[in-house]
Amino acid sequence: MSLQKKWKDLYLQIVNRNDYQLERREIMTKPLIELQNVSFQYEHTKVLHNISFRVSEGDFLAILGPNGSGKSTLLKLILGIAKPLSGEVKLFGESVSSFQHREWIGYVSQKSNAFNSAFPATVEEVVKSGLTKKIGLFKRMPKNANELVVDALKAVGMEEYLDRNIGKLSGGQQQRVFIARALISEPKLLILDEPTVGIDHENVQSFYDMLARLNKEQQITIILVTHDVDTVSNRISHVACLNQTIHFHGYKKDFDSISDEQLNGWYGHSVRKIH
Ligand code: ADP
Repeated sequence: MSLQKKWKDLYLQIVNRNDYQLERREIMTKPLIELQNVSFQYEHTKVLHNISFRVSEGDFLAILGPNGSGKSTLLKLILGIAKPLSGEVKLFGESVSSFQHREWIGYVSQKSNAFNSAFPATVEEVVKSGLTKKIGLFKRMPKNANELVVDALKAVGMEEYLDRNIGKLSGGQQQRVFIARALISEPKLLILDEPTVGIDHENVQSFYDMLARLNKEQQITIILVTHDVDTVSNRISHVACLNQTIHFHGYKKDFDSISDEQLNGWYGHSVRKIH
């Protein structure tokens, strides 16, 4: 074989390998959520205007914005609870209206932890109830249901609370149990709407550490609506700034270089100072 041919073969091998790696990266970072020109209004109130962005597999996205900026409504559109006035929402590449795999998405709201102390359910029962999403309401529990409950509780550091009454736990512990309930159906995407409301500052830190572990170790994509931008900032990969429209969506490091004047222009004050 001539030297020229050898070089050509070697060159082709490298090019092919690069193509393969690019293809792999494309597959690995496929969009789990895509919004294209989405607008929404309640009756006569315009809430969201021309929203377009993507969330890729493995992202840990914080959605920031003042009260009334449309954060919860945006989550409702992603979950298919609200229908856009115009534009399109896709989940896992499929239109949200025909999307079937609800068990791939775990949702925990800020109200999840508003349990009365007399609520008659144990942690085990609450977490196990999350299995119905995966197996259907009237199907029999799988034989390894107890094992699945323990695994989900371990992932949120709550395995020792299995037999406790949910109503007797602190707000932060209840929120962890609700995340375990979401995790039991093995979601690929976890959506959390201000999950730390009512949790004290020290527990908020460890709560976000737990979310970062789920994102890194179990490769769960996370969307988090939060006001704790400073506390969460070293755990997230992306930030979206919302106020009726998306003013910024990008890497956390690019968010850091946005000036307070710019944020003031979007929000009337800096979100970095919202606590
Ligand atoms: P955020 O989560 O950022 O606080 P929301 O999405 O809850 O904002 O609300 C955005 C706007 O929509 C607010 O002005 C709110 O009053 C209004 N809104 C929210 N829910 C409803 C509803 N069910 N009916 C009418 N208006 C609503």
